[in-house]
Amino acid sequence: MLQVNRRGKGKTVLVAGGAGFVGSHLCDALLGRGDTVICVDSYITGSRDNVRPLMNHPSFRLIEQDICKFIEIGEPLDQIYNLACAASPPQYQADPVHTMMTCVAGTGNLLALAERHRAAFLQASTSEVYGDPAEHPQKEDYRGNVSCTGPRACYDEGKRAAEALCFDMLRGGRVDVRVARIFNTYGPRMQANDGRIVSNLIVQALSGKPLTIYGSGMQTRSFCYVSDLVGGLMALMDVRPNPGVPVNLGNPGEFTINELAQMIRSMVPVRTAVAYRPLPKDDPQRRRPDISRASELLDWQPTVPLAEGLRSTIDWFAANLDDRPRKRVA
Ligand code: NAD
Ligand code: UDP
Repeated sequence: MLQVNRRGKGKTVLVAGGAGFVGSHLCDALLGRGDTVICVDSYITGSRDNVRPLMNHPSFRLIEQDICKFIEIGEPLDQIYNLACAASPPQYQADPVHTMMTCVAGTGNLLALAERHRAAFLQASTSEVYGDPAEHPQKEDYRGNVSCTGPRACYDEGKRAAEALCFDMLRGGRVDVRVARIFNTYGPRMQANDGRIVSNLIVQALSGKPLTIYGSGMQTRSFCYVSDLVGGLMALMDVRPNPGVPVNLGNPGEFTINELAQMIRSMVPVRTAVAYRPLPKDDPQRRRPDISRASELLDWQPTVPLAEGLRSTIDWFAANLDDRPRKRVA
């Protein structure tokens, strides 16, 4: 049994996956408003580096644990955010069975923890529950177009199963559950080698390497800056009454991958080529959130334009990458 000393007047909040990209920003924001934060992470895709600045914070605790294993916390918990899951396609496909177990067994363990503590629970679901969508933009009532046998199924179907678990716990009156369907999010602390489009292109551009574009580059995504997403997650967790339905969180601005690559090329003063590569199997062709539900229920909408968010992300990578070419082209 782990003991955590509660300090201050805020809530006690467990963030599973708190050493990851989004989770570490969420930990920052929760501590910033005076909460006590218990971060649980196995570091499978995250890193202690993401939360190193928080290590000496009196209201922050870091616990190394895989959520697939039973978990108990000695301190009474008010809220649990479940962000623990690899999110990048190459990473979640590297051990697909573990990804599926994280989504199902891991979410089940955290829901049981929430039930024992009577804590509110927020599940980080994903736009991937819509698969390669036949409806555009995606509203929450669209049921999706997902392969249950393909290489993305461990994540897409895992997250769908996790949603089913969440809503069963909610309907059964056992846990106060909220479900956020998160669309592509980017920003500082993405891993340089995690294989996602924004980190790949920025790292390639800063290193003077060709920017890899899979397929024609005409597929689209909608990119949300991480601070906007964190605001939406906290608003969804705190809203009363419980919406009782999943809520899309993302930026509705839609860009082709070619457009994104051109923007990044124009913002990095190193000349780079573009290299086209085969499109991965089951890669969704279009994706854009309809965020009217989040807007109505949470009074939430993203505020950071793509160019501005890319600027801070590029600056962060530039300061944190050490293998950039020394010679810059103005
Ligand atoms: P990330 O890989 O940076 O963070 C995930 C964190 O969870 C990592 O720190 C990792 O070590 C930890 N983790 C993974 N499996 C675990 C396990 N079994 N036990 C304990 N810890 C485990 O990813 P992210 O981009 O920060 O995504 C966070 C959450 O948001 C994920 O659940 C993801 O599915 C969801 N999401 C993210 C995006 C996005 O674009 N970033 C989009 C949709 C959904
Ligand atoms: N992609 C790309 N080049 C890369 C990495 C990704 O063209 O170096 C494409 C990928 O095929 C997909 C889009 O960019 O069409 C977004 O990929 P990402 O892995 O970031 O997220 P997801 O597919 O989960 O939305």
